[in-house]
Amino acid sequence: MSSISRFSSSEIRPKTATACETTRSLSERLVSVACVTILVLLPTGTAFADETVAPLSGWLNIVWGDSHDEDRPIVHRRVTLTDDQGKTTELQVSDELLTGGVSRWNGYRVTAFPRSTAALGPRGEVPVSALRLEGGGTSSLGGVSGSQPWISILCKFSDIGDEPEDLSFFQGMYGNNPGGLDHYWREVSADAIDIVGSTAVDWVTLPGTHLSYVPTPGSGTAANLDLIFNDCTAAVDPVVDFSNGGSPFAGINIMLNALLDCCAWGGGRFATLDGVSKSWRTTWEPPWGYAQEAVIAHEMGHGFGLPHANNFDGDGNPYDSPWDVMSSATGYAANDSTYGALGKHVNAYHKDQLGWFAPARRFEAPANSSTSILLDHTALADATNYQIARIPIAGNRWYTVEARIRSGDYESNLAGDAVIIHEVNTGRSEPAWAVDGQNPPADYGDNPGTMWTVGETFADAANSISVEVESSTATGFRVRINNGDPGAIFLDGFESGNVFSWSSQSP
Ligand SMILES: [Zn+2]
Repeated sequence: MSSISRFSSSEIRPKTATACETTRSLSERLVSVACVTILVLLPTGTAFADETVAPLSGWLNIVWGDSHDEDRPIVHRRVTLTDDQGKTTELQVSDELLTGGVSRWNGYRVTAFPRSTAALGPRGEVPVSALRLEGGGTSSLGGVSGSQPWISILCKFSDIGDEPEDLSFFQGMYGNNPGGLDHYWREVSADAIDIVGSTAVDWVTLPGTHLSYVPTPGSGTAANLDLIFNDCTAAVDPVVDFSNGGSPFAGINIMLNALLDCCAWGGGRFATLDGVSKSWRTTWEPPWGYAQEAVIAHEMGHGFGLPHANNFDGDGNPYDSPWDVMSSATGYAANDSTYGALGKHVNAYHKDQLGWFAPARRFEAPANSSTSILLDHTALADATNYQIARIPIAGNRWYTVEARIRSGDYESNLAGDAVIIHEVNTGRSEPAWAVDGQNPPADYGDNPGTMWTVGETFADAANSISVEVESSTATGFRVRINNGDPGAIFLDGFESGNVFSWSSQSP
């Protein structure tokens, strides 16, 4: 894997100017109408330095772009704001603002303050100096539950007649049989969600040519995703009721018959369709996207609001952890004769963010404790033991511990049976990094250092945290979790000889 620059290189850090109180429900996190938060870049501290430029108010959506070319593992994100007239403007938002909080506003209503002196970006992006969270909207993070029907709409560019797959292929992709996406998402979410009612409609033709939407097929980032969304949803409108008889589709997979730019894309798009105004979970897929169902699962994951996961090598490439479909989507994937590589599960942090662990499956390590617990593997249906252990470090940092076992329809081809530990830091682009005890960490997270097995102990001595894999069980592992008990860590370290001494990364 080649090394690329990190997202965030500046020392300038975002600061939340005003605390924001949110309320959570199981299904969605709702923003209080009274909640007003401004994110500004310090040290300038001048949130309104550019107040001569009219602010833009509307609905924020984030879309992630994933390259098919693994030699160029650069992640692309687009931030859009759709106003009440339906006009969508792409915003140029710094990585500091995004990781500092704006990424958690995906789906919310915001006001953006343009930077008057800065030039527009290559796609006409408007640079912004500050964003303010307004009341209204919903975000996936905090919970996705219940029925989430998607619709695949198949759109041909006007000058390309190919139909790479037929309607039955796209309808079958949503099946409830093993390998079908309804079956998949039910298993991944422990039945917290389903996608029952998902469907596909047959190919229609867009009004424009390929190059009119995609100036550089296969490269760059210039595909006009908004125009494709508008034209494709309009082209199918005679045969699609997006309001779905009162139960609107949750998401839209736009399947295209030729390349986009660098990437397949997934995230959200605010629009009014058949009288329903909301942020629609949306993906834009070139043929290589739907050739591997794992790619569709990855992009739908972005649609559910998930970012990428990462391994521990710090190289900025977020596609090098084979423990999450939101990282190396097709690595160590199970295979289906029709739909290619299938999605794996997402990591325990991602599941927890979406509210997919029942309380009885969650272990929160108390302070100053040493506890031996049973962990059932993450794909086990009807688990009776814990499926996630969460160990606080400080502030917005914690560890998650989960068991992964080669089994079932989606995890059968994993790199091994192991306890996987993620260090979570919500202040970075990919909050969850799979901890690797190897020094230096491996380029790709399929190594023994990332797979914690019986007799091994992960130790973060600086924070007095350790995780010892005590034994394997029929359904996972028994682990001992020490949180704030330095004596236990010291003792284990010298007794077992298998302790990986390690310090948590700086935030
Ligand atoms: Zn992605």
